[in-house]
Amino acid sequence: MTDVSIPPQPWMGASATRAVMTALEAAGGSDCARFVGGCVRNALLGRPVDDIDIATTLTPDQVMQALTDAGVRWAPTGVEHGTVTAIAEGLPYEITTLRRDVSTDGRRAVVAFSQDWAEDARRRDFRLNALYMDGEGRVFDPLGHGVSDAKAGRIVFVGDPITRIREDYLRILRFFRFQAWYGRGEPDPAAVAACKALKGMLSGRSAERTSKELLKLLAAEDPRAAVALMRDTGVLAAILPEAAPERFNALVEIETGKLYENDPELRLAALLPQDAGEAIRVAERLRLSNAQRDRLAAALASEPRIVAWLSPRAVRRAVYRLGVRATHDRIKLAWAAAPQAKLAGQWRKLLALAESWSPPEFPLTGDDVIAAGLPKGPLVGRALKEVEDWWVDEDFPIDRTLALAQLKRVTLGLGEA
Ligand code: ATP
Ligand code: MG
Repeated sequence: MTDVSIPPQPWMGASATRAVMTALEAAGGSDCARFVGGCVRNALLGRPVDDIDIATTLTPDQVMQALTDAGVRWAPTGVEHGTVTAIAEGLPYEITTLRRDVSTDGRRAVVAFSQDWAEDARRRDFRLNALYMDGEGRVFDPLGHGVSDAKAGRIVFVGDPITRIREDYLRILRFFRFQAWYGRGEPDPAAVAACKALKGMLSGRSAERTSKELLKLLAAEDPRAAVALMRDTGVLAAILPEAAPERFNALVEIETGKLYENDPELRLAALLPQDAGEAIRVAERLRLSNAQRDRLAAALASEPRIVAWLSPRAVRRAVYRLGVRATHDRIKLAWAAAPQAKLAGQWRKLLALAESWSPPEFPLTGDDVIAAGLPKGPLVGRALKEVEDWWVDEDFPIDRTLALAQLKRVTLGLGEA
């Protein structure tokens, strides 16, 4: 135990958390379960806590029994590696039995359950993540450096970085992720050298885990230094050879001006070239979701070209054609590509316009076309499309009679064709 104690946090005292801890303690005594990892680190640093992990000396069978006895719901989310997820008041709590590594092939570890907190701490990735805390807020730092690292913003591997990366190559990306979120000062030279030396092993790793880590990294308030370090070590090129940080840096600068929220997906787009085809290839390689792929492709399309002096009309046209979000994404990326201070007001105006305008409904339907004398069939769709194009070009007049007059001209034309 350290002499560090954390004042009670709302999530620690929450009835759901208490229910889970009490259930475990009823089965294994008062020291059988401790909070671990990110929630302890963040509580120590006064940062928000969103997922709560618990480490325990109880075996998974004992955990499941203890939860059942206490009437807490659970799911066997990874019993082979010691994890049971309790669900209390709809909130998940990942409960993992203390472990020690038996063997590992760089992807999946074979583990043995353990009763020894220090043994469990030694298989964790970084010293600031190898922290434990009991229900009263007393912090345990079995390896002795976790608390000081967390406070100083040092991301240091537990043990020899080369060995630890060889066990799991994704730890390279985790290093940069934690560096982005919690790192301060000079990054640990041994960690940087190890990441650089072993970066080649990142290719061929699980695309899902890679993109999850990358997006988490990009969600840090200001990931610029971490991304620059990734570029300098060649790690960025190993996972994203098409990435160039210039426009990304400018986007983060714009966002951290506190005007806009951090947007990790848009930051990823900003790293890539303005090329929708390339965006789709990257999204597929990283196995992003379809929604993420479509967003990247729309943000990285080259037409219509977005410039700072775009007319309000052209902005409305873009919102109608691309939707608000894609227009917004396109404007922000264009801003990041032309970040001169003298244009900032203009870019902000375009964004505000894109947000505040919602397209009116197109005033005609197929029935109007048929009433105008065209036979049912493919011509109806063509006529509607032509009037709609005119309507967009005319800046969305709401007067239906104008649209009907245009329809008349179009049907005449189509009838003659
Ligand atoms: P976050 O706030 O992003 O959830 P976290 O530290 O909780 O940060 P997780 O990925 O949720 O990160 O992992 C929980 C804990 O499990 C970590 O703090 C670390 O102790 C351990 N851990 C997770 N992944 C690894 C890994 N690949 N190698 C070693 N330890 C790991
Ligand atoms: Mg976590």
